[in-house]
Amino acid sequence: MEMKRRQKGVGSHGDGNRQKRIKMLLHVPGYMPQDAASLERDLAEPPLAHMTDGVKNLPGSSVSPSLTFLGVLERLGRAPRRGEQANLRMLLLPTSVQFGTCALCGYDLPPQMLVAAHIKRRKDCSNLERRDLANVGMLACLLGCDVLYELGYVGVGEGGLIMISDVIRTAPSLLNHVTGRLSGRTTPWWSPTREKYFAWHRTVVFQSGHMVE
Ligand SMILES: [Zn+2]
Repeated sequence: MEMKRRQKGVGSHGDGNRQKRIKMLLHVPGYMPQDAASLERDLAEPPLAHMTDGVKNLPGSSVSPSLTFLGVLERLGRAPRRGEQANLRMLLLPTSVQFGTCALCGYDLPPQMLVAAHIKRRKDCSNLERRDLANVGMLACLLGCDVLYELGYVGVGEGGLIMISDVIRTAPSLLNHVTGRLSGRTTPWWSPTREKYFAWHRTVVFQSGHMVE
């Protein structure tokens, strides 16, 4: 605002300067006027970032991970954002509600514990499918259902019956957790129009083989 106000007078005195170009003086702590070149370089690539950011602890690598992270914590740049994600969440979980229901376990939970999950993995959806907010998403809880579905430990059969993969037997605690909460459940989120997305998940992501009886 302040800059705009001061700029107003520029070029309005008939002195020929109609470009509204202003010169700004910035003081950057740690840099003197003669350091302009190094400031430019450091802004482009912050010091230490190239040495420590993203250290890979590969087998045989002589670099061990540092106990103190010296890289850049916040990166500048424009990360691609999922344009439709906020709309999907709003549709599945209107801001007016105090609780939402997990599609898989059926628990009523506070909104912060629920995610607007894609029934068919978003990166595998066509743009048309990504726009199909009425069918492509479901609410999944952060108590486990979201990740269990994403990893294919559970799936949804035609008609809505929750399928549990027997790969889960390799982790007894997980088996107890999942069978206790999901065995024999039918999700009300299944519908004929969502079936193509559940079917894709069953075919591509669900870790088939045997199912837990
Ligand atoms: Zn759940």
